[in-house]
Amino acid sequence: MSRYFSKSLSALKPYVPGEQPQDMKYVKLNTNESPFPPSKAAMQYAEEHLRALNLYPDPECVELRREFAKLSRVDTDQVLAANGSDEALYFAFKAFADQEHPLVFPDITYGCYPVFAGALGIPYTEIPLKEDFTIDTADYSGTGMTIVIANPNAPTGIALSLYEIDALVKAHPDDVVIVDEAYVDFGGTSCIPLTKKYDNLLVVQTFSKSRSMAGARLGFAIGSRELIRDLNTVRNSFNPYNINNMTMAVGLGVLKNQIYTDANCLKIRETRSYTEAALKELGFEILNSKANFIFARTDRIGGGELYRRLKAKGVLIRHFEKERISDYNRITIGTKEQMDVLLEKIREIFAEEEA
Ligand code: PMP
Repeated sequence: MSRYFSKSLSALKPYVPGEQPQDMKYVKLNTNESPFPPSKAAMQYAEEHLRALNLYPDPECVELRREFAKLSRVDTDQVLAANGSDEALYFAFKAFADQEHPLVFPDITYGCYPVFAGALGIPYTEIPLKEDFTIDTADYSGTGMTIVIANPNAPTGIALSLYEIDALVKAHPDDVVIVDEAYVDFGGTSCIPLTKKYDNLLVVQTFSKSRSMAGARLGFAIGSRELIRDLNTVRNSFNPYNINNMTMAVGLGVLKNQIYTDANCLKIRETRSYTEAALKELGFEILNSKANFIFARTDRIGGGELYRRLKAKGVLIRHFEKERISDYNRITIGTKEQMDVLLEKIREIFAEEEA
């Protein structure tokens, strides 16, 4: 830390992203990316529609927002485009929480929430998940805080029902409820339709997972016109050109090819079932995942040890050193071939243990 670093940030613990190794080729099952590239049709569309890079992009991102709004059955002015859903979340925290109106989220959830809160100087409360790692929405009653829920949650993969989200939003008319739907396309139910009913609901989605665009950085926030107007006030006070021309073009191409996205999501769900069954046979316990990853543990080997041994064999998964979950690993669902490599390496490790 230099002596110039703001004292207000001296305690800040930045987010540690999952490894993105550049040295050797791993079977990469650690950051919940899609194993499939964007479709050829999407890339071709992007090439044909890429605007001159010497000009700034459309700061309102109108075409892309219009297409996303159409797909989501909301109005274009109910949609904000962001440089990854992380940016949408950051804007939302900045806009809808502060010292007087702190944040509340589960103790086990997406690691960027406490980091963003720290960077923005927003106090937060963490509410423990139940023993079985589910969220009890009743625990959020009367907190009087801005609520943040990942649905499905990460890294557990467990989803709340639309009914539970509806009740939560309804019960907190004076608090914004931010529902982070990064993983919703793999088996959850989106609460976007509820944005027509409630003015305190903000939904955040990403194109990094189901739409194969992690490297392009694209996310969206969907809510009432007023909430989106507030987010735009924050965005235009920070980076009005937050979506670059290349990302815009790929995003539009991807939106034109929803069938490809749906087919990929189906493949991931099938491969998830396949992997779950095989891991259960090997003695793993797995939480009920509606996401493109599973959260698994076994008595046969510790979570950290399994992570390290798999890495040495060229397979990357994600391990969190957090007390309640250090026994577990989060494993992204890749292609069936990738999952077969994972299973083979786990069998090898177990055989080495027994030898
Ligand atoms: N929310 C959750 C729950 C996530 O796991 C992630 C990905 N790490 C994000 C949001 C951010 O995704 P992105 O910025 O790539 O859209």
